[in-house]
Amino acid sequence: MRSLTTLAALALLACAPSEPPALPDPEPLLEQEGAVEVRPVIDMHMHAHEVPLPITEGGPAPCLPAPCEPRGEATGTPEASLQQTLKAMDEHHIVKAFVSTGDLDLLDTWVEAAPNRFMAGSAIWRPGEVPLEELKERLADGRLHGMGEIAAQLAGIPPNDPSLDPYFSLAEAYDVPVLIHTEGIGPPVPTFRVQAGSPLLLEDVLVAHPKLRLYVENAGYPFLDDMIAMMYQYPQLYADVSTITWIIPRQAFHRYLRELVEAGLGKRLMFGSDQMRWPEMIGEGIASIETADFLTEEQKRDILYHNAVRFLRLEPRDLE
Ligand SMILES: [Zn+2]
Repeated sequence: MRSLTTLAALALLACAPSEPPALPDPEPLLEQEGAVEVRPVIDMHMHAHEVPLPITEGGPAPCLPAPCEPRGEATGTPEASLQQTLKAMDEHHIVKAFVSTGDLDLLDTWVEAAPNRFMAGSAIWRPGEVPLEELKERLADGRLHGMGEIAAQLAGIPPNDPSLDPYFSLAEAYDVPVLIHTEGIGPPVPTFRVQAGSPLLLEDVLVAHPKLRLYVENAGYPFLDDMIAMMYQYPQLYADVSTITWIIPRQAFHRYLRELVEAGLGKRLMFGSDQMRWPEMIGEGIASIETADFLTEEQKRDILYHNAVRFLRLEPRDLE
């Protein structure tokens, strides 16, 4: 006969969440600067220079909603973007960053510059532009660590369009993280469609690919209720808070973040800068988390670091 303790253990197992158990995550203390403890940050959303808009060197970063006061100065060359991004990463103690571009040679250059810090993702602006065979080869030999940003919404293509399905199948087969732009905001390109950004459109994708490790840019901003519904129903779904940390008014970002955290989703939100060609936005993004006075210190650390460690399944040796 089973003992009561065994029955209690079985009952506990039966109600255990479907999430895998957290991996060891000691959160290394990087160093001590005077009396201030320096903690590591993971950036889940960077771009290697590529921007879907004509940008002039020194031009300001976009802002929303118009009319607004744009800030920042765009880098002029891929090398300047790399060097200034690395400088900002040093300054803000970013130990890992998921960086993407559709130019796979440029992606190699970034990873070679800081192999322990950059995770390589293939940006997909339009299905078919990057050959699947090449992605498969790179996933197989370890040159590619994830997929995305998938930004087909900029071409008016919703996430459940059959043309994207082979990319999801490939990412699911290789068990790698996938970043997708499915939200209500985006660059002012003529083919962008707000209606192709409803988080509800991800349902078909998640049903067809239940093992997909998907995270949604800007937590689907501003489609709050739809995003909450999707994250409640699909516990494998994560989200970043990236461009909205600096492109919209901070008050609006804080309000959105607060709603997500109060809905209980604080363990599945991850910081990203979406710096594109404005590396100074990395610091602004982090500041917008640090200044969120409704968050506890633990909640801030979750968003800036711990949630990404769990989502990426990083082990202590990956963070050395
Ligand atoms: Zn992006």
